[in-house]
Amino acid sequence: MTPQTVNAYYNANMNEIVFPASVLQAPLFDPRADDAANYGAIGATIGHEISHGFDDEGSQYDGSGNLRVWWTDEDRKRYDAKTRILVAQYSAFAPIPGYAINGELTLGENIADNAGLEIAYKAYHRSLGGKPAPVIDGMSGDERFFFGFAQSYRSKVRESQLLTWIKSDPHSPDEFRVTGVVRNHPAFYSTFGVRPGDRMYLPPEQRVSIW
Ligand SMILES: [Zn+2]
Repeated sequence: MTPQTVNAYYNANMNEIVFPASVLQAPLFDPRADDAANYGAIGATIGHEISHGFDDEGSQYDGSGNLRVWWTDEDRKRYDAKTRILVAQYSAFAPIPGYAINGELTLGENIADNAGLEIAYKAYHRSLGGKPAPVIDGMSGDERFFFGFAQSYRSKVRESQLLTWIKSDPHSPDEFRVTGVVRNHPAFYSTFGVRPGDRMYLPPEQRVSIW
């Protein structure tokens, strides 16, 4: 990647994570922004890349980048049971009527999105050092965390391009990289008062937490 590429990656063979300079700017990271927004945006992206080392593909490589089984059968079985639920959740999304997301193709990225938000949320709360988060512009720390996450995925796309992505891109379309992720996180419910009957509501037993 060049320094001006707005992207990041994890490479299992090298066990390396790369963040080019240009991804470290708003809306992903702003040194003048509030911590909660930065944790929700670049924090979730960093968590996303870390967890690629432990997704359906990365988990098959050891710490030296070799293709080697290092998980117990029991861990693998429980992991597969959780990720199968994610496959079903995303396969039910149709960004264009009649064209659903391919839950298998996008599984690795959806695992990384799920785990990335979880890691970033824990990191944000750890950063508070036991003190309550400040209220800024009437918003709680958790509200700003989730807004920062959502804002980092704002985008516009023509339907023909969206269709190409649905059929070939291992990432879910941006909208679902937000809505498909937060509804699995308990703090989303407590922060915004999401209740049964709301469009993004998932019963607790159907929510998936990977890490
Ligand atoms: Zn990724």
